[in-house]
Amino acid sequence: MPVADYKTYCEMLDKARDGRYAYPGINVTSLTTANAVLKGLAESRSDGLIQISTGGAAFASGSSVKDMVLGAASIAEHVHRAAARYPIYVALHTDHCQADKLDKFVLPLVELTEQRRAAGLPNLFSSHMFDGSALPLKENLDIAEKLLERFHRNQLVLEIECGVVGGEEDGVKASASAKLYTTPEDTLEVARRLNAVTGARYLLAATFGNVHGVYKPGHVKLKPSILKDCQDAVVHKYGREALFYLVFHGGSGSAIEEIHEAIDYGVVKMNIDTDTQYAFTRAVADHMFRNYDGVLKVDGEVGDKKTYDPRSYLSLAEASMAERVKKAAEDLKSAGKTLFKAA
Ligand SMILES: [Zn+2]
Repeated sequence: MPVADYKTYCEMLDKARDGRYAYPGINVTSLTTANAVLKGLAESRSDGLIQISTGGAAFASGSSVKDMVLGAASIAEHVHRAAARYPIYVALHTDHCQADKLDKFVLPLVELTEQRRAAGLPNLFSSHMFDGSALPLKENLDIAEKLLERFHRNQLVLEIECGVVGGEEDGVKASASAKLYTTPEDTLEVARRLNAVTGARYLLAATFGNVHGVYKPGHVKLKPSILKDCQDAVVHKYGREALFYLVFHGGSGSAIEEIHEAIDYGVVKMNIDTDTQYAFTRAVADHMFRNYDGVLKVDGEVGDKKTYDPRSYLSLAEASMAERVKKAAEDLKSAGKTLFKAA
Protein backbone atom coordinates (compact mmCIF):
# COMPACT_ATOMS: atom_id res chain seq x y z
CA MET A 1 0.00 0.00 0.00
CA PRO A 2 1.09 3.56 -0.39
CA VAL A 3 2.22 5.33 2.77
CA ALA A 4 -0.72 5.67 5.20
CA ASP A 5 -2.67 8.89 4.68
CA TYR A 6 -3.68 11.00 7.68
CA LYS A 7 -7.04 9.30 8.15
CA THR A 8 -5.48 5.84 8.04
CA TYR A 9 -2.63 6.87 10.32
CA CYS A 10 -5.06 8.23 12.93
CA GLU A 11 -7.07 5.01 12.64
CA MET A 12 -3.87 2.99 13.16
CA LEU A 13 -3.15 4.93 16.35
CA ASP A 14 -6.72 4.60 17.66
CA LYS A 15 -6.92 0.87 16.94
CA ALA A 16 -3.57 0.25 18.62
CA ARG A 17 -4.45 2.14 21.77
CA ASP A 18 -7.91 0.63 22.06
CA GLY A 19 -6.67 -2.87 21.15
CA ARG A 20 -3.59 -2.73 23.39
CA TYR A 21 -0.87 -3.20 20.83
CA ALA A 22 1.87 -0.92 19.50
CA TYR A 23 3.67 -0.35 16.21
CA PRO A 24 7.37 -0.83 15.65
CA GLY A 25 8.96 2.53 14.77
CA ILE A 26 12.16 1.43 13.09
CA ASN A 27 15.00 3.81 12.29
CA VAL A 28 16.50 3.54 8.82
CA THR A 29 19.47 5.17 7.13
CA SER A 30 19.42 3.75 3.60
CA LEU A 31 17.27 2.13 0.92
CA THR A 32 18.38 -1.31 2.12
CA THR A 33 17.34 -0.73 5.73
CA ALA A 34 14.03 0.84 4.62
CA ASN A 35 13.37 -2.22 2.42
CA ALA A 36 14.17 -4.47 5.40
CA VAL A 37 11.44 -2.76 7.44
CA LEU A 38 8.88 -3.09 4.63
CA LYS A 39 9.79 -6.78 4.22
CA GLY A 40 9.58 -7.52 7.95
CA LEU A 41 6.26 -5.68 8.40
CA ALA A 42 4.73 -7.31 5.33
CA GLU A 43 5.80 -10.79 6.41
CA SER A 44 4.22 -10.20 9.85
CA ARG A 45 1.09 -8.57 8.35
CA SER A 46 1.78 -5.64 10.67
CA ASP A 47 1.50 -1.93 10.00
CA GLY A 48 4.33 0.20 11.34
CA LEU A 49 6.54 3.25 11.02
CA ILE A 50 9.73 3.93 9.14
CA GLN A 51 11.62 6.74 10.83
CA ILE A 52 14.74 8.76 10.18
CA SER A 53 16.94 10.57 12.69
CA THR A 54 18.86 13.76 11.94
CA GLY A 55 22.11 11.79 11.78
CA GLY A 56 20.54 9.05 9.66
CA ALA A 57 19.19 11.66 7.26
CA ALA A 58 22.58 13.38 6.91
CA PHE A 59 24.17 9.98 6.26
CA ALA A 60 21.57 9.10 3.62
CA SER A 61 22.37 12.24 1.64
CA GLY A 62 25.99 11.13 1.10
CA SER A 63 29.11 11.85 3.10
CA SER A 64 30.22 14.81 1.00
CA VAL A 65 26.78 16.47 1.02
CA LYS A 66 25.51 15.79 4.56
CA ASP A 67 22.19 17.50 3.99
CA MET A 68 19.59 16.19 6.46
CA VAL A 69 16.62 17.40 4.41
CA LEU A 70 17.95 15.86 1.20
CA GLY A 71 18.64 12.52 2.89
CA ALA A 72 15.27 12.35 4.66
CA ALA A 73 13.36 13.37 1.52
CA SER A 74 15.25 10.81 -0.60
CA ILE A 75 14.38 7.92 1.71
CA ALA A 76 10.78 9.15 2.05
CA GLU A 77 10.35 9.33 -1.71
CA HIS A 78 11.72 5.81 -2.06
CA VAL A 79 9.31 4.56 0.60
CA HIS A 80 6.36 6.29 -1.11
CA ARG A 81 7.17 4.30 -4.26
CA ALA A 82 8.23 1.01 -2.69
CA ALA A 83 5.51 0.76 -0.02
CA ALA A 84 2.91 0.46 -2.78
CA ARG A 85 4.25 -3.07 -3.41
CA TYR A 86 3.63 -4.32 0.15
CA PRO A 87 0.27 -5.37 1.61
CA ILE A 88 0.52 -3.28 4.80
CA TYR A 89 0.41 0.39 5.83
CA VAL A 90 3.49 2.26 6.82
CA ALA A 91 3.76 5.80 8.18
CA LEU A 92 6.85 7.96 7.64
CA HIS A 93 8.24 9.73 10.68
CA THR A 94 11.29 11.76 11.68
CA ASP A 95 12.93 11.07 15.04
CA HIS A 96 14.41 13.38 17.73
CA CYS A 97 14.85 16.94 16.48
CA GLN A 98 16.06 19.34 19.13
CA ALA A 99 14.94 22.99 19.10
CA ASP A 100 18.20 24.22 17.55
CA LYS A 101 17.78 21.82 14.62
CA LEU A 102 14.14 22.60 13.77
CA ASP A 103 15.17 25.17 11.13
CA LYS A 104 17.52 22.73 9.47
CA PHE A 105 15.42 19.56 9.59
CA VAL A 106 11.75 19.45 10.55
CA LEU A 107 10.62 22.85 9.27
CA PRO A 108 12.09 22.45 5.76
CA LEU A 109 10.48 18.98 5.62
CA VAL A 110 7.13 20.51 6.64
CA GLU A 111 7.61 23.10 3.87
CA LEU A 112 8.13 20.28 1.37
CA THR A 113 4.87 18.74 2.56
CA GLU A 114 3.11 22.11 2.20
CA GLN A 115 4.39 22.40 -1.38
CA ARG A 116 3.28 18.86 -2.14
CA ARG A 117 -0.18 19.46 -0.69
CA ALA A 118 -0.54 22.62 -2.77
CA ALA A 119 0.26 20.48 -5.83
CA GLY A 120 -2.27 17.81 -4.84
CA LEU A 121 0.37 15.30 -3.74
CA PRO A 122 0.42 13.29 -0.51
CA ASN A 123 2.41 14.57 2.49
CA LEU A 124 6.13 13.76 2.38
CA PHE A 125 6.15 12.56 6.02
CA SER A 126 3.24 11.47 8.21
CA SER A 127 4.66 12.81 11.46
CA HIS A 128 7.69 14.52 12.97
CA MET A 129 9.16 14.56 16.45
CA PHE A 130 10.15 17.77 18.17
CA ASP A 131 12.35 16.92 21.14
CA GLY A 132 12.27 19.85 23.53
CA SER A 133 13.01 17.65 26.53
CA ALA A 134 16.25 19.52 27.30
CA LEU A 135 14.28 22.78 27.70
CA PRO A 136 12.16 23.93 30.64
CA LEU A 137 8.64 22.51 30.15
CA LYS A 138 7.11 25.89 29.37
CA GLU A 139 9.57 26.59 26.53
CA ASN A 140 9.18 23.02 25.27
CA LEU A 141 5.40 23.46 25.09
CA ASP A 142 5.52 27.01 23.67
CA ILE A 143 7.39 25.61 20.67
CA ALA A 144 5.29 22.42 20.53
CA GLU A 145 1.99 24.35 20.53
CA LYS A 146 3.08 26.55 17.60
CA LEU A 147 4.26 23.50 15.69
CA LEU A 148 1.06 21.61 16.41
CA GLU A 149 -1.07 24.41 14.93
CA ARG A 150 0.94 24.28 11.70
CA PHE A 151 0.98 20.47 11.72
CA HIS A 152 -2.80 20.36 12.18
CA ARG A 153 -3.33 22.57 9.12
CA ASN A 154 -1.26 20.08 7.13
CA GLN A 155 -2.62 16.81 8.54
CA LEU A 156 0.68 16.00 10.20
CA VAL A 157 1.00 14.28 13.57
CA LEU A 158 3.46 15.78 16.08
CA GLU A 159 5.49 13.75 18.57
CA ILE A 160 6.87 15.57 21.58
CA GLU A 161 8.98 14.48 24.52
CA CYS A 162 8.54 15.36 28.16
CA GLY A 163 11.16 14.07 30.58
CA VAL A 164 14.50 12.90 29.21
CA VAL A 165 15.43 9.57 27.63
CA GLY A 166 18.78 8.60 29.11
CA GLY A 167 21.85 7.32 27.28
CA GLU A 168 23.13 8.42 23.91
CA GLU A 169 21.59 8.35 20.47
CA ASP A 170 22.91 9.84 17.29
CA GLY A 171 25.72 11.53 19.24
CA VAL A 172 23.22 13.36 21.50
CA LYS A 173 23.84 12.38 25.08
CA ALA A 174 21.47 12.95 28.00
CA SER A 175 23.06 14.79 30.91
CA ALA A 176 23.71 12.84 34.11
CA SER A 177 21.28 15.05 36.06
CA ALA A 178 18.53 14.65 33.47
CA LYS A 179 14.98 14.01 34.58
CA LEU A 180 14.49 10.40 33.52
CA TYR A 181 10.97 10.05 34.95
CA THR A 182 8.08 12.20 33.72
CA THR A 183 5.59 13.32 36.37
CA PRO A 184 1.77 13.42 36.10
CA GLU A 185 1.98 17.20 36.72
CA ASP A 186 4.17 17.57 33.61
CA THR A 187 1.80 15.57 31.44
CA LEU A 188 -1.25 17.45 32.73
CA GLU A 189 0.47 20.61 31.53
CA VAL A 190 1.10 18.92 28.15
CA ALA A 191 -2.61 18.15 27.87
CA ARG A 192 -3.65 21.64 28.97
CA ARG A 193 -1.44 23.31 26.36
CA LEU A 194 -1.71 20.92 23.42
CA ASN A 195 -5.35 19.87 23.69
CA ALA A 196 -6.14 23.55 23.19
CA VAL A 197 -5.26 22.98 19.52
CA THR A 198 -8.64 21.42 18.82
CA GLY A 199 -8.67 18.34 16.64
CA ALA A 200 -4.87 18.13 16.27
CA ARG A 201 -3.11 14.81 16.86
CA TYR A 202 0.06 14.34 18.85
CA LEU A 203 2.09 11.54 20.36
CA LEU A 204 3.80 11.88 23.71
CA ALA A 205 7.15 10.35 24.59
CA ALA A 206 6.79 10.38 28.36
CA THR A 207 9.87 8.93 30.01
CA PHE A 208 9.81 6.22 32.63
CA GLY A 209 13.50 5.48 33.06
CA ASN A 210 14.08 4.50 29.43
CA VAL A 211 17.58 4.75 28.03
CA HIS A 212 18.79 4.84 24.43
CA GLY A 213 21.20 2.11 23.43
CA VAL A 214 21.48 -1.36 24.95
CA TYR A 215 22.84 -2.34 28.32
CA LYS A 216 23.32 -5.51 30.29
CA PRO A 217 20.27 -6.64 32.30
CA GLY A 218 19.78 -4.74 35.56
CA HIS A 219 21.34 -1.50 34.34
CA VAL A 220 18.06 0.14 33.35
CA LYS A 221 15.29 0.65 35.91
CA LEU A 222 12.07 0.99 33.97
CA LYS A 223 8.95 2.09 35.82
CA PRO A 224 6.06 1.68 33.34
CA SER A 225 3.62 2.44 36.18
CA ILE A 226 4.59 6.10 35.69
CA LEU A 227 2.73 5.97 32.39
CA LYS A 228 -0.38 4.70 34.16
CA ASP A 229 -0.12 7.52 36.73
CA CYS A 230 0.07 10.07 33.91
CA GLN A 231 -2.93 8.57 32.06
CA ASP A 232 -5.01 8.34 35.26
CA ALA A 233 -4.26 11.98 36.07
CA VAL A 234 -5.19 13.26 32.62
CA VAL A 235 -8.41 11.23 32.47
CA HIS A 236 -9.35 12.42 35.96
CA LYS A 237 -8.87 16.04 34.95
CA TYR A 238 -9.96 16.11 31.28
CA GLY A 239 -11.94 12.91 30.64
CA ARG A 240 -11.24 9.78 28.62
CA GLU A 241 -10.87 11.62 25.30
CA ALA A 242 -7.69 13.19 26.71
CA LEU A 243 -5.90 9.82 27.06
CA PHE A 244 -2.42 10.12 25.60
CA TYR A 245 -0.96 8.19 22.69
CA LEU A 246 2.40 7.28 24.17
CA VAL A 247 5.74 6.47 22.58
CA PHE A 248 8.35 4.16 24.11
CA HIS A 249 11.90 5.32 23.31
CA GLY A 250 15.02 3.41 24.22
CA GLY A 251 13.23 0.06 24.33
CA SER A 252 16.17 -2.07 23.17
CA GLY A 253 16.92 -4.82 25.63
CA SER A 254 13.70 -4.31 27.65
CA ALA A 255 11.95 -7.32 29.16
CA ILE A 256 8.81 -8.40 27.30
CA GLU A 257 6.73 -7.97 30.48
CA GLU A 258 7.80 -4.32 30.73
CA ILE A 259 6.97 -3.77 27.07
CA HIS A 260 3.51 -5.30 27.49
CA GLU A 261 2.87 -3.32 30.64
CA ALA A 262 3.78 -0.08 28.83
CA ILE A 263 1.43 -1.03 25.97
CA ASP A 264 -1.38 -1.64 28.46
CA TYR A 265 -0.93 1.98 29.60
CA GLY A 266 -1.31 3.43 26.11
CA VAL A 267 2.03 3.06 24.30
CA VAL A 268 1.19 2.93 20.57
CA LYS A 269 4.72 3.10 19.12
CA MET A 270 7.99 1.64 20.28
CA ASN A 271 11.14 2.97 18.69
CA ILE A 272 13.68 0.38 17.67
CA ASP A 273 17.12 1.23 16.40
CA THR A 274 19.91 -0.45 18.37
CA ASP A 275 18.45 -3.97 18.00
CA THR A 276 17.86 -3.66 14.26
CA GLN A 277 21.32 -2.11 13.79
CA TYR A 278 22.78 -5.18 15.43
CA ALA A 279 20.67 -7.60 13.38
CA PHE A 280 21.85 -5.91 10.18
CA THR A 281 25.53 -5.92 11.11
CA ARG A 282 25.41 -9.44 12.56
CA ALA A 283 24.63 -10.85 9.11
CA VAL A 284 27.42 -8.83 7.50
CA ALA A 285 29.93 -9.98 10.12
CA ASP A 286 28.90 -13.59 9.58
CA HIS A 287 29.38 -13.25 5.83
CA MET A 288 32.82 -11.65 6.21
CA PHE A 289 34.11 -14.25 8.68
CA ARG A 290 32.80 -17.17 6.61
CA ASN A 291 34.13 -15.80 3.34
CA TYR A 292 37.34 -14.26 4.59
CA ASP A 293 39.41 -15.47 1.62
CA GLY A 294 36.71 -14.46 -0.86
CA VAL A 295 36.03 -10.92 0.30
CA LEU A 296 39.77 -10.21 0.62
CA LYS A 297 42.54 -10.76 -1.89
CA VAL A 298 44.73 -12.94 0.32
CA ASP A 299 48.33 -13.83 -0.56
CA GLY A 300 48.21 -12.60 -4.14
CA GLU A 301 44.89 -14.38 -4.88
CA VAL A 302 42.00 -12.58 -6.61
CA GLY A 303 39.23 -13.09 -4.03
CA ASP A 304 35.73 -14.11 -5.05
CA LYS A 305 33.62 -11.48 -6.78
CA LYS A 306 30.44 -13.30 -5.72
CA THR A 307 31.28 -12.73 -2.05
CA TYR A 308 32.57 -9.17 -2.24
CA ASP A 309 29.72 -7.88 -4.40
CA PRO A 310 27.95 -5.70 -1.78
CA ARG A 311 24.61 -7.16 -2.86
CA SER A 312 25.65 -10.56 -1.49
CA TYR A 313 26.02 -9.42 2.12
CA LEU A 314 23.56 -6.52 2.00
CA SER A 315 20.74 -8.86 0.99
CA LEU A 316 21.67 -11.10 3.95
CA ALA A 317 21.67 -8.00 6.16
CA GLU A 318 18.26 -6.96 4.80
CA ALA A 319 16.83 -10.40 5.57
CA SER A 320 18.37 -10.46 9.06
CA MET A 321 17.03 -7.00 9.89
CA ALA A 322 13.60 -7.99 8.52
CA GLU A 323 13.58 -10.95 10.93
CA ARG A 324 14.23 -8.56 13.83
CA VAL A 325 11.38 -6.34 12.63
CA LYS A 326 9.13 -9.42 12.64
CA LYS A 327 10.16 -10.18 16.22
CA ALA A 328 9.29 -6.58 17.14
CA ALA A 329 5.84 -6.93 15.57
CA GLU A 330 5.29 -10.12 17.59
CA ASP A 331 6.52 -8.52 20.82
CA LEU A 332 4.33 -5.44 20.30
CA LYS A 333 1.33 -7.59 19.30
CA SER A 334 0.87 -5.70 16.00
CA ALA A 335 1.56 -8.84 13.91
CA GLY A 336 -1.46 -9.96 11.89
CA LYS A 337 -3.33 -6.72 12.61
CA THR A 338 -2.70 -4.68 9.45
CA LEU A 339 -5.60 -2.40 8.54
CA PHE A 340 -4.88 -3.04 4.88
CA LYS A 341 -7.51 -5.16 3.19
CA ALA A 342 -6.64 -6.70 -0.14
CA ALA A 343 -9.06 -5.60 -2.85
ZN1 LIG B 1 14.48 8.20 21.16
